[in-house]
Amino acid sequence: MTSLDTVHAPSAQSLSLEFFPPRDAEGQKRLALTVQALSVMNPAYVSVTFGAGGSTRDGTIETVSALKSLGFEAAPHLSCMGSTQSELKGLLDHYREQGVRRIVALRGDLPSGMGVLSGINALSHANELVALIRQHSGDWFHIEVAAYPEMHPQSSKPTQDMVHFINKVNAGANAAITQYFYNADAYFDFVDRAVKLGVTVPIVPGIMPITNHNQLMRFSEMCGAEVPRWIRLRLAEYGDDRESIRAFGTDVVTEMCQTLLENDAPGLHFYTLNQIEPTLAIWRGLTA
Ligand code: FAD
Repeated sequence: MTSLDTVHAPSAQSLSLEFFPPRDAEGQKRLALTVQALSVMNPAYVSVTFGAGGSTRDGTIETVSALKSLGFEAAPHLSCMGSTQSELKGLLDHYREQGVRRIVALRGDLPSGMGVLSGINALSHANELVALIRQHSGDWFHIEVAAYPEMHPQSSKPTQDMVHFINKVNAGANAAITQYFYNADAYFDFVDRAVKLGVTVPIVPGIMPITNHNQLMRFSEMCGAEVPRWIRLRLAEYGDDRESIRAFGTDVVTEMCQTLLENDAPGLHFYTLNQIEPTLAIWRGLTA
């Protein structure tokens, strides 16, 4: 249960926070302070990305361990691209020994220029990774997978993308976290379609605070998230006025979170970008 009950949230609605591994010891110290400041949100768990933005596998391992030692339930992201099955099994064993009980299982994206593994050792899609985790570690891990309300950018049709999502659930995923979006209807439509096709696992909206116009447009272009025209126009008009961008972004995202929670989203997963204020400001708005 989280402090979200003040927004008419059923007690099952939970919050989670995502971080990326810092690059050095100084960054680890800063992250510890960030996570502690955000602990006021009483997150059900915190997750740590894998290989994203050039971070290393060891960075994820070290950061998960650091967050666990601060008393948080920490969930590593694990992506199957670029790792052999035996490397993945080794990581699963390591996390199990550390007492990790939750994993975010992904295909991942390879940095350009890196070769794709092929042959019997390679896994090409996240459903295969979920199956490997279940086969190797049984029910030890609670598994989250990714979902794309606005369709994964490499898919050609929403129906096909939904089939691939359902394959991950059928392989043994316990829950899903969505790619971020700024149009709540895309999320509700995705959940409706999934439920009609028999999906019963929670599909938690991924929430990206808006703090930086150019960065948001770049990320969104890469991951296929739509920034609605009216939001783009407002952000463009603010130019370099970062304070106004943040204030506007907080209002827009807080309002969307309110709509999501009032319409029974099972919780919220915040892409914190390792920053305190953008996520905290939204949470304050939700609990005010
Ligand atoms: P999949 O579910 O395998 O899907 C990838 C594509 O393949 C989709 O288009 C799907 O429709 C298609 N597909 C699936 N199965 C088949 C099949 N059998 N045949 C043909 N096509 C198929 N990336 C990182 O590198 N590190 C991270 O830590 C990270 N964390 C993330 C966390 C969340 C919550 C989300 C939403 C994304 C994250 N990503 C991360 C990004 C993610 O790795 C990319 O979006 C990646 O391109 C797809 O990963 P996936 O697990 O969704 O892949």
